[in-house]
Amino acid sequence: MISIKIGNNDVSTSVLVINCGSSSIKYALVSERREDRIYGLAENLGSENARIKGITAGGQPLELAIPNANHEQALETLLERLSHYNPQAIGHRVVHGGTLTKAHLLTPDIIQRIREATPLAPLHNPAHLVGIEATMRLFPELPQVAVFDTAFHQTMPAHAYRYAVPKFLFTDHNVRRYGFHGTSHAYVSERGSELAGSLKQGGWLTAHLGNGSSTCAIWNGQSVDTSMGLTPLEGVVMGTRSGDVDPSIHSFLASNLGWDIFKIDKMLNKESGLLGLSNNLSNDMRTLIEASEQGNEDATLAIEVFCYRLAKSLAALSCGLPRIDGLFFTGGIGENSAYIREKTMAYLPHFGFNLDKEKNNTLKRGTEGRIDAGAGPQIWVIPTDEEGRIAKETEHVVEQLSREANAAIA
Ligand code: AMP
Repeated sequence: MISIKIGNNDVSTSVLVINCGSSSIKYALVSERREDRIYGLAENLGSENARIKGITAGGQPLELAIPNANHEQALETLLERLSHYNPQAIGHRVVHGGTLTKAHLLTPDIIQRIREATPLAPLHNPAHLVGIEATMRLFPELPQVAVFDTAFHQTMPAHAYRYAVPKFLFTDHNVRRYGFHGTSHAYVSERGSELAGSLKQGGWLTAHLGNGSSTCAIWNGQSVDTSMGLTPLEGVVMGTRSGDVDPSIHSFLASNLGWDIFKIDKMLNKESGLLGLSNNLSNDMRTLIEASEQGNEDATLAIEVFCYRLAKSLAALSCGLPRIDGLFFTGGIGENSAYIREKTMAYLPHFGFNLDKEKNNTLKRGTEGRIDAGAGPQIWVIPTDEEGRIAKETEHVVEQLSREANAAIA
């Protein structure tokens, strides 16, 4: 392992985590000690306003204009700034890994598998591939690992991942439920069950509630069901995504309004969810809570639908668990909004959950803590750490490869 030096001669090891979107790159240099993290975002790539915004090793804000920079140029600038920390490996977040079940070293074969999964994640996988190809050109000597959002859910049984549609769509065209947010559900359930004293054992529900939201049922550390499906549109209400709707909405809108498939897809992914319900007021839960407090009825209904559908999803996923030991809330909304947690739990009296309202109200951002009153299944807030989890899985792959290489030499 290569050591890096940060601050007062503190020495630790690091992995550079990269998450490439269509016009942005999120990055984090994750060292063994969490507080050493350097992170940020290169945004508006390909435009005059391209820039890097982040936090440096000393915790200072960084803002750097990189006009017209593309992904490769932004990565070059970033990696130039970070190269003196000698990252030991690069971990790439990849949304869709098809049927790959774990993180993999990036080889031509794995890159091809990511390319083949593109029809299943047309917005995400092409952007990841741009980032992967750029870092591989820039840093051919560094081991690079792909960590997939879908991998954690590959343990779902067939009765949870198959759709009730003709079999050939599954066998010939891979139409099935995959699930997403896997790194978050994996991290939160592992960390939460560790805090609860039952490391990876028992039955847990997770609610990852951010701009994108999903729920998951985990039995003995493995995902047994999740709310997202073939794409990240299925499931609970999200910022701009509808979540579950009757699939016949497509033919209804085509026949009655003359909409084509692209217009319907855009409406369901970009104009629905909290934004659509609130009559275009906002996809941001904070804004909706404020508007609701001031009497906005659309905002009030959007919040109610969000909480009711979320509770319904958690209740449905409980069918995948022999018993429920507890529930973990995470994501921007799950970690921060006591109001949404309380409203959601009010729809779930059947499982014996007993929320401690005072504990719930006192939890602040970034704090993990238990918020049930002691009787019944546990309820926790666990801040997610997707970058940390990606770094850990990347290190794991690299260490395993070096063990295998050493064994081959011996
Ligand atoms: P994420 O995608 O995980 O960053 O989460 C973004 C969502 O978290 C947005 O809808 C925010 O409005 C929401 N959020 C952040 N802080 C709060 C808060 N204090 N109360 C309610 N929602 C919040």
